[in-house]
Amino acid sequence: MIDWLASIGKTENGGVTRLLYTSSWLEAQLALKNIMDQSNLHTYFDSVGNLFGRLPGTESNEKTILTGSHIDTVVDGGKYDGAYGIIASFIAVLRLFQAYGSPKKTIEVVSLCEEEGSRFPLTFWGSRNISGAYTLDLVKEVKDSEGIPFLEAMKQAGFDPDNYTPPIRDDVERFVEIHIEQGMILEKNQNQVGIVTHIVGQRRFTIHINGESNHAGTTPMQYRKDAVSTAAHFISFLTEKAKATDPQLVATVGRLHVKPNVPNVVAGEVEFSLDIRHHQENIMDQYCHEIFTEFKRFSESLNMEVAITQWMDVKPVKMDEEMCDWAREIAERKNYRYQEMISGAGHDAQVFGTECATSLLFVPSQNGISHSPKEFTSLEELETGIDLLTEVLYKLAY
Ligand SMILES: [Zn+2]
Repeated sequence: MIDWLASIGKTENGGVTRLLYTSSWLEAQLALKNIMDQSNLHTYFDSVGNLFGRLPGTESNEKTILTGSHIDTVVDGGKYDGAYGIIASFIAVLRLFQAYGSPKKTIEVVSLCEEEGSRFPLTFWGSRNISGAYTLDLVKEVKDSEGIPFLEAMKQAGFDPDNYTPPIRDDVERFVEIHIEQGMILEKNQNQVGIVTHIVGQRRFTIHINGESNHAGTTPMQYRKDAVSTAAHFISFLTEKAKATDPQLVATVGRLHVKPNVPNVVAGEVEFSLDIRHHQENIMDQYCHEIFTEFKRFSESLNMEVAITQWMDVKPVKMDEEMCDWAREIAERKNYRYQEMISGAGHDAQVFGTECATSLLFVPSQNGISHSPKEFTSLEELETGIDLLTEVLYKLAY
């Protein structure tokens, strides 16, 4: 089924490109709808293109156990990211129905329309419409890189914005997502499944250092206001401080601009990006305070200016403790090698996690590779994940 779904939107390199509201995206959603229909799930789309397959409960129709992941991919992405979570949820629900008949509580498999932010500059379009955080107003001015308006693309795919009704759901009691890890922790530890306890928060900053451009030959070292050597100090300081603060804290400087960027001129300006992630706000607060205090102290000592601008602040999200306990009990009973872990990447589970009790489960990613045609998880590992998910859903709905 992974290969079947990956054949829709297949690229030359053996990867997959399924961008929101494109023809391959629509074909994949319709193909999934078709197999759900054949399996007697009651299927429907909401007004943004999230696809649901509903297995009604015998005792309660008011609350729903929702399980699934996202159908969209990055450009030339892998076969497993998102797709595995949808397929695993579908197979798990099918197996439960075949073995035990209708559940007590309604279960719905969801193929979320968009998570990656690969076509339009926004992420979690699917889950944030369900949570009510996003509505159509947000995308009225949004265009893709070819200038195609969001609303036009949506209409082309058959989801006419004129028919939009907010697809907000207040009946979701719990959400369960299974996903590839997209990292190498499970593989390194030779574990089969990961039970995610937290999804990290993310803060992003731009740091701008203003010094003085000058002659590389005639300006003595003690009179320089060298933005590059100051940036070097900042970057080594923040890197060492991250290591010393907490093993889970990660801080990354991935982009650096130097002005004038010339070999024989002392640089007058440097701007760099800073990405900080951790699952506890207080740790991030403390870390930011310490590094920014040092940035200010150091630049003042050289009579230079530093400007720190924050442009992203995503809060960490805790997964439901009770659901973590249940997943752990099942993994122990089934003798699966498992570990609790923190997700350093964002997932739809973080959107649901602030709305209802939510669980996120991982299976290994070979060499930690994802967002690439090289993404791979073995059939055996995929099966283990499906088995765990099946047991979790049994616990929740039967
Ligand atoms: Zn994903």
